[in-house]
Amino acid sequence: MPEKIKMITPLVEIDGDEMTRILWSMIKVKLLNPYIELNTEYYDLGLEKRDETNDQITKDSAYAIKKYGVGVKCATITPNAQRVEEYGLKEMWKSPNGTIREILDGTVFREPIMVNNIKPLVKPWEDSIIIARHAYGDVYSAVEIQTEEPGIAELVFTGKSGKITKKTIKEFEGSGVIQGMHNTDASISNFAHSCFRYSLDRNRDLWFATKDTISKIYDHHFKDVFMEVYEEYKEEFEKAGLVFFYTLIDDAIQRVISCKGGIVWACKNYDGDVMSDLVSRAFGSMSMMSSVLVSPDGCYEYEAAHGTVTRHYYRHLKGEKTSTNAMATIFAWSGALRKRGEMDGIDELVKFADSLEKASIMTIEDGIMTGDMASQCESDNVRIAVAEELLDEIATRLNKLLS
Ligand code: NAP
Ligand code: MG
Repeated sequence: MPEKIKMITPLVEIDGDEMTRILWSMIKVKLLNPYIELNTEYYDLGLEKRDETNDQITKDSAYAIKKYGVGVKCATITPNAQRVEEYGLKEMWKSPNGTIREILDGTVFREPIMVNNIKPLVKPWEDSIIIARHAYGDVYSAVEIQTEEPGIAELVFTGKSGKITKKTIKEFEGSGVIQGMHNTDASISNFAHSCFRYSLDRNRDLWFATKDTISKIYDHHFKDVFMEVYEEYKEEFEKAGLVFFYTLIDDAIQRVISCKGGIVWACKNYDGDVMSDLVSRAFGSMSMMSSVLVSPDGCYEYEAAHGTVTRHYYRHLKGEKTSTNAMATIFAWSGALRKRGEMDGIDELVKFADSLEKASIMTIEDGIMTGDMASQCESDNVRIAVAEELLDEIATRLNKLLS
């Protein structure tokens, strides 16, 4: 056995809940510990620990990413009323991802992992589509009112100077609902910078779309900010032969469906939320969608796009072997280790990350896959594996690649 790879800076390791927590430790035991002297700073974001620390642990983990630059996160439960009861929680704690995003700011890039025996449902797609989701504001931090009586809804802004700007939203003759949302120039501009940098990094055209024909101030401002920020990247884009393409969201949808893929598609917060599920499903399965949060100051948080796979966890607790797909969680680890290797100049770590991804893809292309993928695979050469078997098969191939 060759010597284990040594790390320099700790990787921020953020553990989570349910079935993905089970996968997390299996990945470490079978695919990482045998090859790497893992140097991680461990944060347990399992729901019990979040409750015990009044969610301080979540904030601490985000600040650790700010300190070290790279983190890898397991899926976590976002509590709702049912979870509060199930776990006897002190409070309905906020979404950990929301808290981490608030602290790091930044953009979430989601990319499907592609394998040659699962064809995208959308025929023209030959290469992946990376969704860049603006992770701040709009409807996600909106305030809402429901009124049972007639009245006037107004939008009021009181400037620090004392200047007041007021517009009537609606004179209600009966009951109704009202919503106020916002975004900030700082956040939109950071979003634009992240998108242009990531596109250059990945050598892909960048598409961006809003509904600026209808939202003549709000959405139009997003367009203006992107156009302005683009000026800083124009030369590099042209040199790399890349295109920045702006269009109306309706037009973007139909063009995305008929394009060949290979693009970064920048989406406003809601569009990104919805479209990333559509894109991941159309490429195969939610469990094959990888995700990375890139902050404006160059910090990276890698994770799988899917949740904690609760239904599988309850079956696991009953002693059943479940066919849960660890691919996106493996790619979260490989992405984080590669980035750590690049930042610290550890070539072996970068090479290991490449090999881990290669071994994982080879396994699926050899026809060994979990149930969620088997149902998408047209080839007859398929063996459905339970979670542990899939990892063992990947480990066998990884061993060969590394020896
Ligand atoms: P989910 O965990 O993504 O699972 C939804 C369904 O998709 C599963 O029941 C399973 O379908 C399939 N699936 C997802 N990932 C899979 C995998 N790796 N392998 C095989 N099948 C997979 O979403 P959810 O059930 O809506 O949410 C569960 C919990 O996760 C919630 O508490 C939610 O708050 C949390 N969540 C966390 C994150 C995050 O931390 N990033 C994101 C989303 C949700 P079948 O049951 O049909 O096999
Ligand atoms: Mg969603």
